[in-house]
Amino acid sequence: MSADRIVVLGTGGTIAGRGQPGTDLGYVAGQIGVEDLLSGVPELAGVPVACEQVAQIDSKDMRFDVWQSLAARCAHWLAQPDVTGIVVTHGTDTLEETAWFLQRVLAPAKPVVITCAMRPATALVPDGPQNLVDAFTAARHPGARGVLAVCAGVVHGAAEVRKVHTYRLDAFGSGDAGPIGYVEAGRVRQLREWPRSVADPALSDAVARAREWPWVEIVTNHAGAGARTVDALVAAGVHGLVVAGTGNGSLNAAMEQALLRAMGQGLRVVRSTRCLDGEVIVQAGDALPAHPLAPVKARVDLLLELLA
Ligand code: ASP
Repeated sequence: MSADRIVVLGTGGTIAGRGQPGTDLGYVAGQIGVEDLLSGVPELAGVPVACEQVAQIDSKDMRFDVWQSLAARCAHWLAQPDVTGIVVTHGTDTLEETAWFLQRVLAPAKPVVITCAMRPATALVPDGPQNLVDAFTAARHPGARGVLAVCAGVVHGAAEVRKVHTYRLDAFGSGDAGPIGYVEAGRVRQLREWPRSVADPALSDAVARAREWPWVEIVTNHAGAGARTVDALVAAGVHGLVVAGTGNGSLNAAMEQALLRAMGQGLRVVRSTRCLDGEVIVQAGDALPAHPLAPVKARVDLLLELLA
């Protein structure tokens, strides 16, 4: 058995999308199997690979049960001594949520590299094949670890990566932290440390055992915001709320009061910011706890906290 196997787990997305030949809109995501995607990339022909199709969906429809299966399959393969790393093919829309979920649940000591495409496999010039090659390069890089996202030659960390563009091939950013590195001519140029890998087996167990996931919603502060959305969600039985505040996590007064009432009833509430860069700076007298990451990742943390 070779000692440097890469496992490729397919979940769907535009990288596996099919449409009218030559067009890059109006396609259907999640149509082509992961083995077929790989067989179309001759540059990967010599690499020992195992493939599994974990799901075949458009990532806008990502579900908790898919996350559960993906975490379980990653954990299984990461435990195999001959596996160097994992590449996950994924849609771009919720890639950052899956990345943070896997980082929190697995905190892997080997690399788990999520990759994607902005153009379907049937486009005139698809970007998926190059992204796959780059993801393999990152997954085989000596010392690489943690959950990474590779798109358009950029290596992002799970905590920082965010989809920042609707159409451009280089659709992801890492905010003011910047990327972990770049893949250039088949090599990784590393700029900063890999994500931390301190596994929490109790959390992995809780995720594996969960039958029903908590209901956690994101509400946004904006002009004209008030208490109504928060009150309606609390009345409907929501388990936790993330609020995407304006600027430094600031909130409309009525909305803040509604969130404080919710907390008073035992609901977990965390405050993030709708700004793309920076993180909420805690100030004396803040009534609502702040979270340093983007609202969708604060939501992943809250889900995991409620599960555990
Ligand atoms: N809707 C697609 C998805 O997230 C978009 C993409 O992959 O670029 O699956």
